[in-house]
Amino acid sequence: MTLNEYEKKRDFARTGEPKPEAGANTRGQAVFVVQRHKSSRLHYDFRLEIGGVLKSWAIPKGPSVNPSQKRLAVMVEDHPYDYKDFEGVIPEGEYGAGTVMIWDEGTYAVVEGDAAAALAAGVIKMVLDGKKLKGIFSLVQTRMGGKDENWLLIKGKDDHADREEDILQRKPDSARTGRTMEEITQQ
Ligand code: MN
Repeated sequence: MTLNEYEKKRDFARTGEPKPEAGANTRGQAVFVVQRHKSSRLHYDFRLEIGGVLKSWAIPKGPSVNPSQKRLAVMVEDHPYDYKDFEGVIPEGEYGAGTVMIWDEGTYAVVEGDAAAALAAGVIKMVLDGKKLKGIFSLVQTRMGGKDENWLLIKGKDDHADREEDILQRKPDSARTGRTMEEITQQ
């Protein structure tokens, strides 16, 4: 796993995003973060700590707690571990320019085996313990359209599943600071 692509896309003299060498988890429990990112298009970035970096997927429609709503998740470049703490504004003209909110955060565990093996196999069945997202979720590589980067994020059928709930609408604010997108933008 490498952060070369992450580094190439960004000018760290201009953006406040963490530098690629920064940080690593020393506390044991693997973390996940979901960042709401309003760049040219609003999307949600789902990141799992695996092998010392944050493996990352861009989810155009965001996660759902309804098991029948499978959400396209497009794998993007690895992000440094410290990216989990990034909430703020990426300046205009920079890659991904716009507002980033820590929409959800917490720890996760794969249901079977280890996360790196699940990633390599293209099926990551995990239990999320976030502030908003909880219970079983699966990331499944579909290679739709012949593209390796195409995965689906699917809520598992458990006590945390809810077919009526629109969690993005009901819990729109930062899980870290409670701020709205507007408040982060105007910081
Ligand atoms: Mn993004």
